[in-house]
Amino acid sequence: MSDFLQELQSRLGSPLLISADISARYQHDWSSEPAGVPIAVARPGSTGEVAAIMQVCSHHGQKVVVQGGLSGLCGGGNPRSDELAISLERLSGIEEIDHASMTMTVKAGTPLQLIQEAAASAGFVFPLDLGARGSCNIGGNISTNAGGNQVLRFGMTRNLVLGLEAVLADGTVISSMNKMLKNNAAYDLKQLFIGSEGTLGIVTRAVLRLYPKAQSRCSALLAVSEFPQVISLLHKLTRDFAGSLSAFEVMWHSYYHFITDNVKGVTSPFGERHPLYVLVELEGGDSERDQALFETSLGAALEQGLAVDAAVAGSQREREGFWKIRDGVAEIGQFIRDTANFDVSVPISSMQSFLAAIESELGSKVPAAKMLVFGHIADSNLHFICYTGKREDIKTMYRIVYDTVGRFHGSVSAEHGIGVQKLNYLHYSRSPAELALMRTLKQAMDPQGLLNNGRVLPPV
Ligand SMILES: Cc1cc2nc3c(=O)[nH]c(=O)nc-3n(C[C@H](O)[C@H](O)[C@H](O)COP(=O)(O)OP(=O)(O)OC[C@H]3O[C@@H](n4cnc5c(N)ncnc54)[C@H](O)[C@@H]3O)c2cc1C
Repeated sequence: MSDFLQELQSRLGSPLLISADISARYQHDWSSEPAGVPIAVARPGSTGEVAAIMQVCSHHGQKVVVQGGLSGLCGGGNPRSDELAISLERLSGIEEIDHASMTMTVKAGTPLQLIQEAAASAGFVFPLDLGARGSCNIGGNISTNAGGNQVLRFGMTRNLVLGLEAVLADGTVISSMNKMLKNNAAYDLKQLFIGSEGTLGIVTRAVLRLYPKAQSRCSALLAVSEFPQVISLLHKLTRDFAGSLSAFEVMWHSYYHFITDNVKGVTSPFGERHPLYVLVELEGGDSERDQALFETSLGAALEQGLAVDAAVAGSQREREGFWKIRDGVAEIGQFIRDTANFDVSVPISSMQSFLAAIESELGSKVPAAKMLVFGHIADSNLHFICYTGKREDIKTMYRIVYDTVGRFHGSVSAEHGIGVQKLNYLHYSRSPAELALMRTLKQAMDPQGLLNNGRVLPPV
């Protein structure tokens, strides 16, 4: 063991993982970015230990990569061979549920699903929800400012974090464990760590915002014939449900039928095939009244031609069946490899022409390309998967799509972040002045470039 690792080990309560003890789970996230073996994996069990690690690393100029649940899709948590990996998996647990303030205080390595379940047991809801709920950690969610299925109603992770504690590159602990919605006492420092993907500090604890648990939930899957109808439907349901529309997930036929045709146990409730499908949900406080409102509104949407068919979930099992189609994205890797995966946003008004532009560009430059399209839509977020079956086409597809995102003034990352995957495309969504200010912040907070170096900010 090197002097550095010995010094580090002496500051930690659990053994460092070295060489053969570094299992594959610490070597890569869910992206197809290159995996790597770090010099060691440290698994701190307290904020004090995270601070000690950074003090030692800062003294030795040792670069680190931070790891949460490693469900990231941009390669940000993938270690390099000269880095120390810091896994937050042992810094896990719920510290407090404050019923009066409607807050939950958690450690950064706590799995999202555990937080959701603890909130539900206490009669609340923590409304961040994504397909990776079983594997991702709240620290990772905060660091990526994760979005997910309920942004429409509750906003991104940023909106759900009231307070936060983080360790800086030199080991300083910044504790802003605020529980109040209003706090304008100068800079809101927690925002620096939300969405900065571990490049400015290591999130160690957080105060989360809880909401009252909905008393009723109505779900339906709608078949729609054209995209303008999808927009009209969104406006109608937003108006009719007056703040209670909690999900509006759109699936184009390419994605929908790929999942229902291939994924075992996933079926479509419709006999016929349609161009578009929308999974909608209303959450409210009175099941009888909500169900009546839901069905009346969907009935009117059918009459007005905004949808051509509708399947209303009559049970939790049917609801889960609808969500299996949407969450089936996690299964796609079994059937196709060498995919280019996109998580972009463009204004809703340009979405149709944006997709048409991409189809036309891909059609002329990569004619074998196929696209599976779905998205949260109401928050401007489109996901799609492009593939030809050939690894060498991936780069061209990335370039074509991100060029188009740039032309449509969209964002190359709606919710997954930049990691290492989108470094070369960030300039499509951020101006030189914005990038320069980001570099100034990084330089001020991490002058040695120790934290997640080479992620998020492209080299100059
Ligand atoms: C099936 C599936 C569905 C998904 N759906 C969504 C979705 O709907 N919306 C969405 O936004 N994302 C989605 N994701 C992406 C991913 O789950 C999120 O980005 C999640 O927030 C990552 O959390 P994690 O704990 O796995 O982080 P990791 O993958 O471990 O890390 C992600 C980044 O954050 C940094 N990081 C992790 N923990 C910390 C910490 N404590 N302090 C500082 N930096 C840290 C890492 O260094 C890395 O750069 C999905 C992923 C999968 C596999």
